[in-house]
Amino acid sequence: MRITITDIVDQPGATRPVSVAVPADEFGDDPWGTAEGAVQDPIELDLHLDSVVDGILVRGSLGFTLILGCARCLEPQTIEREVQVAELFLDPAKQVDEDDELEPGYELVDDATAIDLSTMVRDALIIDLPVRILCRDDCQGLCPTCGTDRNREDCGHGADEGIDPRWAALAELDLPAE
Ligand SMILES: [Zn+2]
Ligand SMILES: [Zn+2]
Repeated sequence: MRITITDIVDQPGATRPVSVAVPADEFGDDPWGTAEGAVQDPIELDLHLDSVVDGILVRGSLGFTLILGCARCLEPQTIEREVQVAELFLDPAKQVDEDDELEPGYELVDDATAIDLSTMVRDALIIDLPVRILCRDDCQGLCPTCGTDRNREDCGHGADEGIDPRWAALAELDLPAE
């Protein structure tokens, strides 16, 4: 997801707003890792590009929508997120100290005429991903015995067995006695 910077590069103090809505697949091949399929279109970028001596400073917010399953009942949940970003994209031609390693994805590209925002957007979104979501705090989850959604229906297997559904298959194994 490249943005041309020819109008502001090498003019410290120059600034330009970037406000765009971009399809989720514009951020490279297989951009979202484990969140692939959860990230919805579009991703909203509301940024300011500031020209500085070393390159371009990108600041602002990213807005995106995820659809993820509840950790207990698997019901899809729509989650709106907004994350703040502030990243310096360096001009590789201006790196005086050769030991200073450029961070891949955060440098000016195409002879310092553009920046590619893919790495920044991916990093910001993936770090912000919720580890575990629930449709509501007291979600009853799926019955470990029959798989019924216990929020909708009482299947009669008892709500307090407390067996994690992931272990239910183990409980059914007929292991030989010692
Ligand atoms: Zn749930
Ligand atoms: Zn049941």
